[in-house]
Amino acid sequence: MMLDAPAPAESRPLALRDVPVPEPGPGEVLLEVRANGICRTDLHVVEGELTEPRLPLIPGHQIIGTVVGAGPGVTGVAAGDRVGVPWLGGTDGACMYCRAGRENLCEHPTFTGYQRDGGYAEYATARADFVLPVPGGYPDLEAAPLLCAGLIGYRALRMTEIAGLEPPEADVPPRLGLYGFGASAHIVIQIARHLGHEVYVCTRGTEGQEFARELGAEWAGSGEDRPPVPLDAAIIFAPSGELVPAALAAVRPGGTVVCAGIHMSPIPEFGYDLLWGERVVRSVANLTRNDGREFLAMAPRIKVHTSVRQFGLEEANEALIELKAGRLRGAAVLVP
Ligand SMILES: [Zn+2]
Ligand SMILES: [Zn+2]
Repeated sequence: MMLDAPAPAESRPLALRDVPVPEPGPGEVLLEVRANGICRTDLHVVEGELTEPRLPLIPGHQIIGTVVGAGPGVTGVAAGDRVGVPWLGGTDGACMYCRAGRENLCEHPTFTGYQRDGGYAEYATARADFVLPVPGGYPDLEAAPLLCAGLIGYRALRMTEIAGLEPPEADVPPRLGLYGFGASAHIVIQIARHLGHEVYVCTRGTEGQEFARELGAEWAGSGEDRPPVPLDAAIIFAPSGELVPAALAAVRPGGTVVCAGIHMSPIPEFGYDLLWGERVVRSVANLTRNDGREFLAMAPRIKVHTSVRQFGLEEANEALIELKAGRLRGAAVLVP
């Protein structure tokens, strides 16, 4: 499914097209795509909010695939291996960020389904040193959303800095707010619950709120509602800037608000009193391979379960429209 030019999802900008099976270059593997999870970032690429796609482009960066070929110089993976391909498709390995172990901030990155073709296809290539091991026990369909929704959610949860800390009072568990309840949040709530956090969810639509309660949310309301207790931290998944002051108003002094999306509408002006009290606002950008290995090892241990809705490859436009409208429960996954 190929994008020639960004356009609103409703205009169905992705076209089903027959193209040659890609050739793996040096250090690359060829994968037969078994499933590809759809991410909100895909929507931002397709609709042009992310402005540097290589065009024409095959989107998709939550690929579960089988290795069926390799270019020269590939080590560590073999034909028949089931691997995952995340958003971070490659780095220069040389800039100050890469050398400092912060390859998520690399100065010369290539992103899957953005600067290189991704998983809305039957075949894809990937740098062999950037593919991730997929935990056994997860069918392809349920493994796919772990690769970005899960990974970025996990990184965002770590950035709240409450994950490993003692609760403020011995008998009060850490309280985490989640703004937006899509693919990522439905995984994060499971990790947070496993860690003993109380989770408060603000999301549009009663169905999403109901889903959050089913997954163990203490409370669920809309974005305008204020959670009934002060939060220790909040993660914003929904791409709307108004949620930043709303989340700041909901966290206690010293609390952190993490913006987990790659794109957000402008943040409205707000009074300094919302930031005062050593509250912190920060973003989470991309992932490191280490995040990937850590999270994918942890997911089966704490029995993360993903709720998925399957779409055929040719239904990619419909899947994006459903995502945009907030009609998905969990994650959408394309299966060629
Ligand atoms: Zn770098
Ligand atoms: Zn993503």
